[in-house]
Amino acid sequence: MTHAEQILHDVFGYPEFRGQQAEIIDTVACGNNALVLMPTGAGKSLCYQIPALMRDGVAIVVSPLIALMQDQVTALNINGIAAACVHGGSSGEEVQRISDEIAAEHLQLLYVAPERLVMPRFLQFLHNTRISLFAIDEAHCVSQWGHDFRPEYQQLSVLADEFPNIPRIALTATADNATRADIQHYLDLADAQVFISSFNRPNIDYQVVEKNNGKKQLLQFICSRMSGENGIVYCLSRKRVEDIAAFLSENGLTALPYHAGLNWDTRSQNQRRFTQEDGIIIVATVAFGMGIDKPDVRFVAHLDMPASIEHFYQESGRAGRDGLPATSWLCYGLNDWVLLRERIQLAERDEIQKRIDLQKLDAMLAFCETADCRRQLLLRYFGEDSQPCGHCDNCIDPPSRFDGTVLAQKLLSCVYRVGQRFATGYVIDVLRGRESEWVLRYGHQQLSTFGIGRELSVKEWRTMVRQCVAAGYLNVDMANQALQLTEQARAVLKNQQQVWLRPLKYDKTNNSRSNDI
Ligand code: ADP
Ligand code: ZN
Repeated sequence: MTHAEQILHDVFGYPEFRGQQAEIIDTVACGNNALVLMPTGAGKSLCYQIPALMRDGVAIVVSPLIALMQDQVTALNINGIAAACVHGGSSGEEVQRISDEIAAEHLQLLYVAPERLVMPRFLQFLHNTRISLFAIDEAHCVSQWGHDFRPEYQQLSVLADEFPNIPRIALTATADNATRADIQHYLDLADAQVFISSFNRPNIDYQVVEKNNGKKQLLQFICSRMSGENGIVYCLSRKRVEDIAAFLSENGLTALPYHAGLNWDTRSQNQRRFTQEDGIIIVATVAFGMGIDKPDVRFVAHLDMPASIEHFYQESGRAGRDGLPATSWLCYGLNDWVLLRERIQLAERDEIQKRIDLQKLDAMLAFCETADCRRQLLLRYFGEDSQPCGHCDNCIDPPSRFDGTVLAQKLLSCVYRVGQRFATGYVIDVLRGRESEWVLRYGHQQLSTFGIGRELSVKEWRTMVRQCVAAGYLNVDMANQALQLTEQARAVLKNQQQVWLRPLKYDKTNNSRSNDI
């Protein structure tokens, strides 16, 4: 038995490592840097906790949320490990007690909020301390592409500069390619070994329905297929949470509301009932779920469209932690999309951030609209190739499709003709032969593709674009929203591949714009 396995048994009480844990632990314990991408619940914490126990000195763990730090510290203490945390709310006495313990070389893990860590005094303190490793949890916070950007995280570059000989391990559950590049850049992990676990959750089945009467659809889904099961229903607003919880209760279900506006007592009572009892449905805003570890949640329902695939993945991933079959059910309407777009546009964030958020939202919509395997699309979003799963709604009952090869060729060749430098609206103007100021300025009214797509409305072309993005023929440049061709687009343009599309939905004979949405 290896030293790491022994700790796994003796300290944590688990029989064996999961997935890549053993290799990751080995890498860090030997003093090398690592970047770990692993879905929520897969067991990231052990990847730095065990090396922390194997190496001399105290491990410094950076974590963005006080609540999560405290949970981790409690769990470690229960297992007999000396761990503590310091954050903005720690008293002077507490900090003194902790530094005494560190000086006496008692402490094995210290959790620190990032803003605390980068304070000059704290760094000075660390220089006088024997450190086993740095673990940067929720490392996606370093990136503006990530869903919870924390500027302090970018300052963590000091760790590489000031402590070049101490191994660093960065961990995250969500990182697309752009985020991953940012993590490697800011945390100076170019030389790190990268461990990417599959994001596939094989026991979760994905189902998406278009909204006509969301409440009724939800009730029907629960009553016909999930009666008596534990479930979580996510909604976009507090008001809607209360409304839906009341509605489900009136219909004989045990449904409890949960959102940040409820008083603390109600919230903790509802949360406790959910974790301890059976057959409870919690109706919540996204505030619910962080740190909840209930293994037998049989369904997660989204009654409104989530703001991004990352959100969707995190939230739906709270189903089926026990590995038994579970369902992710999502009800979406284009109105959700409009509402979320508005929210993003009105938010007090910088323009780049807003643009990123809008693209993430569009990717989410593409997931809703796709006629292809949902799991495959989800995994592709996280950079993973896979085959159709055979048990999502689209695999089981493929939606009607038409041969959209010619339309796709028009779109793709137009993207090519304008140099892959223009965003959707512009490309559509060229396709539909609109002599806008910009089109004239670039002389694109002269292109062979100018006006070859008059048969579709603007909205239909937008649906086309979304489907082509979803199918992997088009990319949207994150920086300027320009449409770009992918490798796969080539086969379509060369007539080597047919493109099957979902009906564009918009009535071609009635080309009015009033009922666009
Ligand atoms: P993450 O940080 O990736 O979301 P955690 O580290 O919190 O996940 O682990 C999720 C759960 O899995 C925890 O309850 C943890 O104790 C458990 N776990 C982790 N590794 C193992 C293992 N090798 N065997 C059994 N349980 C494990
Ligand atoms: Zn599928």
